Amino acid sequence: MLKYFLVLALLLKATGYADADKGCMREKSVLISGAGIAGLTLAYWLKQYGFAPTIVEKHPSLRTGGYKIDIRGVAIDVVKRMGVYPSILKGRTDIRGAMIVNSAGKQATNMSADLCGGRVEGDLEIMRGDLCEILLKQIGDIECIFGDCITQIRQSEDSVYVEFEKNEPRNFDFVVGADGLHSTVRKLVFGDESHFLKELGLYISVYTVPNFLNLDCFEIEYFEPQKFVNIYSSHGDLNAKAGFAFSLKPLQCDKRSVSDQQKLVQKAFSNVGWEVPRLLAAMKEAPDFYFDAAAQIHMPQWSKGRIVLVGDAGYAPSPISGQGTSVAIVGAYVLAGELAKGAEDHLTAFTEYEMTLRKFVKANQELAKMSGALMGDKDESWISWLSYHVMSLAPLKWIQYFKTLGVKKINKAANDLILKDYSDKYSVKTLGV
Ligand SMILES: Cc1cc2nc3c(=O)[nH]c(=O)nc-3n(C[C@H](O)[C@H](O)[C@H](O)COP(=O)(O)OP(=O)(O)OC[C@H]3O[C@@H](n4cnc5c(N)ncnc54)[C@H](O)[C@@H]3O)c2cc1C
Repeated sequence: MLKYFLVLALLLKATGYADADKGCMREKSVLISGAGIAGLTLAYWLKQYGFAPTIVEKHPSLRTGGYKIDIRGVAIDVVKRMGVYPSILKGRTDIRGAMIVNSAGKQATNMSADLCGGRVEGDLEIMRGDLCEILLKQIGDIECIFGDCITQIRQSEDSVYVEFEKNEPRNFDFVVGADGLHSTVRKLVFGDESHFLKELGLYISVYTVPNFLNLDCFEIEYFEPQKFVNIYSSHGDLNAKAGFAFSLKPLQCDKRSVSDQQKLVQKAFSNVGWEVPRLLAAMKEAPDFYFDAAAQIHMPQWSKGRIVLVGDAGYAPSPISGQGTSVAIVGAYVLAGELAKGAEDHLTAFTEYEMTLRKFVKANQELAKMSGALMGDKDESWISWLSYHVMSLAPLKWIQYFKTLGVKKINKAANDLILKDYSDKYSVKTLGV
């Protein structure tokens, strides 16, 4: 009998299962659907803890390009612990200033880029695609399947069976939906999007335009009631990005058809002054036209058995909260840490993940309400009307008042979590600064 235990102990040691320092999860495989901010951050941490993550991304390659995003509050600590802070600092947009113009293009006010973006000192702004590239590089060698996606998921007590559109079916220990606002994993496992997605009454479009205003790391914004337009150029980009946000009710278009979406943006901004006609004219040629409703995801539970959601897929706060990226980064950090801690008891790990994060997610989802009210529908939002007219009378004071208020609120929500330290679960030392 003793001999049997000795052989078993040796076997466990050889496979790494008995190494308490490295946790018991060395061999566990995790399929992550989505190579976005949440998916890449999660893959990094799972690898540190000795899991074997595989990423499946529906896009044929890493999705680069896109819009500028912010990293704030406790998310800054996470990227520092990942060792990517210096690269993000180097790759940031470096936008140095901003101004708001009237319909004739005359400057109404100017401000710092940080005030414009709702940031405090130390917060970072980077293009979404640049951040994804930095994160992927930091992960190192893992299995990434590009150009494919999950079509079926079935779970048993000890594994998850997954079918793909192109690749052969496989079994994994866990599956994570990190596939964004319109998550397929959520749909397959938890039910139709309509149960969880809450539109905020605002529509957003972003795309690349030629830099015809010769902006040099600068942003220009233009407001009308229920309408917002901006254009900015960031460090190292020869082109510029145009962004549109508008409220229109009810929005009746096939949101999957790009041509319908483009018509809708054209219609919403057809009588708007400043440089808007030129920006609209560039829409058809844009290589990266993006359109969606600003929306949040609210779910009673983020996991079911061995399947769990992270980032926008589980709890999107919406782009107008300004915190989608930071929430995704922090969510991925907590999920990986709890899974490493929970070792053989994933149900407890997923419960801990939710308990740790719920309050933080709620605080950040609340942020979208303020922006929503300022941009809301004409019939409902007196705040929108008031803000526009006060802004025309006293632009600088009003904008500074509103922006400063916003910065304080965002900063509070961005820091509304004490990050746990899971470093005793690492198998590799982090390179934090
Ligand atoms: C216009 C705009 C402006 C924004 N501005 C800000 C900002 O200023 N600050 C901020 O913090 N946040 C901002 N956000 C929000 C931010 O981008 C998201 O909240 C954040 O990226 C969430 O990360 P994620 O990884 O959960 O999802 P995503 O970044 O959306 O990544 C999801 C990934 O999954 C992939 N995918 C989708 N479906 C499948 C599938 N079926 N199978 C496999 N892969 C799939 C996608 O291709 C993508 O790579 C903005 C968003 C938009 C759209």
